[in-house]
Amino acid sequence: PSENRRPPIRELSSELISQIAAGEVIERPASVVKELVENSVDAGAMNIEVRVDGGGLKRIVVTDDGCGIPKEELPLALKRHATSKIRNLLDLENVATLGFRGEALASIDSVSAVTIQSRATGSERAWELSEGELVPSAGPQQGTRIEVRDLFYKTPARRKFMKSEATENAHVVAQLHRVALANPAVRFVLYQNGRQTFDLEAVETQDERIVALMPRAFEGGYRSVDREESGMRLTGLVGLPTLSKPKGDAQYLFVNGRFVRDRTCAHAVRQAYQDVLHGQAQPLYCLFLTVPAAEVDVNVHPTKTEVRFRNTQRIHSFVDRAVGETLAPPRTGEEESDRL
Ligand code: ADP
Ligand code: MG
Repeated sequence: PSENRRPPIRELSSELISQIAAGEVIERPASVVKELVENSVDAGAMNIEVRVDGGGLKRIVVTDDGCGIPKEELPLALKRHATSKIRNLLDLENVATLGFRGEALASIDSVSAVTIQSRATGSERAWELSEGELVPSAGPQQGTRIEVRDLFYKTPARRKFMKSEATENAHVVAQLHRVALANPAVRFVLYQNGRQTFDLEAVETQDERIVALMPRAFEGGYRSVDREESGMRLTGLVGLPTLSKPKGDAQYLFVNGRFVRDRTCAHAVRQAYQDVLHGQAQPLYCLFLTVPAAEVDVNVHPTKTEVRFRNTQRIHSFVDRAVGETLAPPRTGEEESDRL
């Protein structure tokens, strides 16, 4: 019967494909900040400046002093599935950069107005790409400046989901904290509506950066973790077990430099706390797990906040033991009950 006909199958335009993909990666202004700042880290930047106006919906600008993008590659930077970070499956399985999908800039570009200025190492001057035009630029001395204006103006349905400026700003700060925790040698500066709201100096060690970012969370005392075992390493801080509710929240886990939410590790840490303090121990931690790239699959979700381990049990028992032994170092010849 004729009423049972449907429209023909059509190929979507590349713009619509990008807008659909953007829905997964670019949830709100903070997602743009995360993607841009991670690109700066991947580019080897030592100084990263972030400017956010109107909660990021009006304007986001990230400037770095990294390796830059050569003039002839600027148009490619905005193309979907175009990346300088991997070339083949082997690279993917051993990926050491935060990015590799070649999707972020294309996604951002499809839902906002993007201008890139960059001066690549060894290049005589900076170039600017804006609305498809490539022109000489007065831009950065070295590195890249990316400006994102009017986020979601092309996708008003998504724009309607945005919360207040204060809420979007809070998400931006939280995202930036995560990247900053994992990159202590990098200086991060944030401006909100033209006012500088933080300036995080580069520091020597991870522990210093953690304490600088979360002074209140760890004021009840903490131990520094550093354990290594058959290719796996766990570093960072664990708060001493406390029965009182911790001030501020601090339950951060990074796997190979990436902030992730992982049930296996979270469970292992909780278990380690329960072993030293029965009852309502409140785990406070900022931990960095490093494993061989081939042991972990980061290509699980577009935002990469989930990972899959090849051997979950091995990871669980390592994290449990590493945290447990840090909280209550085993002492020879003493009673088990002499623990914390
Ligand atoms: P991915 O990071 O997954 O490669 P992106 O869309 O985020 O994909 O970026 C595309 C490419 O643009 C990157 O592979 C990189 O070569 C280049 N690029 C983006 N941002 C920067 C930057 N701040 N400095 C240097 N190169 C950059
Ligand atoms: Mg990227």
